[in-house]
Amino acid sequence: MEYRKMEALSVSPSLLGFGAMRLPQHADKQVDQIRTNQMVETAMRSGITYYDTAYNYHEGKSESILSTALRQFPRESYLLADKLPVWLIEKESDTKHYFEEQLQRLQTDYIDFYLLHSLNAARWENMQRNHVLETCEELRAAGKLRFFGFSFHDDYALFEQILRAHSWDFCQIQLNYMDTELQAGLKGLELAGELGIPVVVMEPVKGGSLARLPEEGYAILQRYGCTDSPATLALRYVASLPQVKVILSGMSDQAQLEENLRVFSPFQPLSATEQQAVAELRQMLDSRVRNGCTGCSYCMPCPQGVNIPRCFQIWNDFAKFGNVAATRSAYYVMMKEAERADRCIGCGKCEAACPQKLPIIADLQQVAAEMPLYRE
Ligand code: SF4
Ligand code: SF4
Repeated sequence: MEYRKMEALSVSPSLLGFGAMRLPQHADKQVDQIRTNQMVETAMRSGITYYDTAYNYHEGKSESILSTALRQFPRESYLLADKLPVWLIEKESDTKHYFEEQLQRLQTDYIDFYLLHSLNAARWENMQRNHVLETCEELRAAGKLRFFGFSFHDDYALFEQILRAHSWDFCQIQLNYMDTELQAGLKGLELAGELGIPVVVMEPVKGGSLARLPEEGYAILQRYGCTDSPATLALRYVASLPQVKVILSGMSDQAQLEENLRVFSPFQPLSATEQQAVAELRQMLDSRVRNGCTGCSYCMPCPQGVNIPRCFQIWNDFAKFGNVAATRSAYYVMMKEAERADRCIGCGKCEAACPQKLPIIADLQQVAAEMPLYRE
């Protein structure tokens, strides 16, 4: 197992982190504690020392299931990361309330890495209004949390603003070879490196989307002589970036865990030829998009409430990766009904504002016709 030192924190977590957001489940969707125990035991014995959970994972059960699986190991033999459910904070006292509840669920006295979960502009504003950072610093002073950071899903400008606004111990960003310019992206990774802030990466395989490739993708791998599976290649791409200290993988079964362990034990950075193969894969996947929406949002707001850039992003992602589960979740679970493509009444306001001159109305009709095919 590879370990990378977080210089400022004097701690060296395993480069592969165990994400407890997609634990093995029974047929009724309840988490399988026994299989989780087995996976955690394998992970611990193979040198994984970083375990990541959150208040809301597995409908609030992930923390206690993970802590049960870890109970047989000495507390100081692993690093526990957990996240404040920032969207539930309504008043100043809420931070301590949720933190104490999390300690109870985790059956521990302290959390090693504590994050403000999934910050965006509105949530960041709420953190300041309710003095959440000050409360977390008090918890740190009391020895209840060791390192304080945040995870992030918004644009680069906000990432930079947040990163510079506090003396963070670490941060967590989404990064994979297709998202190098999305959210914090490679630019954010470099900025964190310049500021000496260690980075934990999530979604290295883009929620599973990079675990399978269209046929052209396998042809590229063959041409470059790559024998790795697509998921392994995606993990190795992220791990080849030296500023990355931990890569989280939400593993759902023993086979996935063992495949990941092989990547990091020992870890081999991508060769120049493999980097070229990845660049070509990126180009090929990008070329499969249905329209050239850049997500600039000049078309917004739509008077009917349609979230135009988001509809196109989901549509384009499906064309690139063909991930039905991710498409269904993004369109029917994460997106409100009122924001979906079928709400468009064809008024034309958006088309006049689009710098790409996209046929937004016709494309939204297409999205509205195709998405039900992926609904459960
Ligand atoms: S054409 Fe449709 S998407 Fe565009 S502004 Fe009008 S209602 Fe909204
Ligand atoms: S203005 Fe055009 S390119 Fe920009 S988000 Fe809207 S549809 Fe996409």
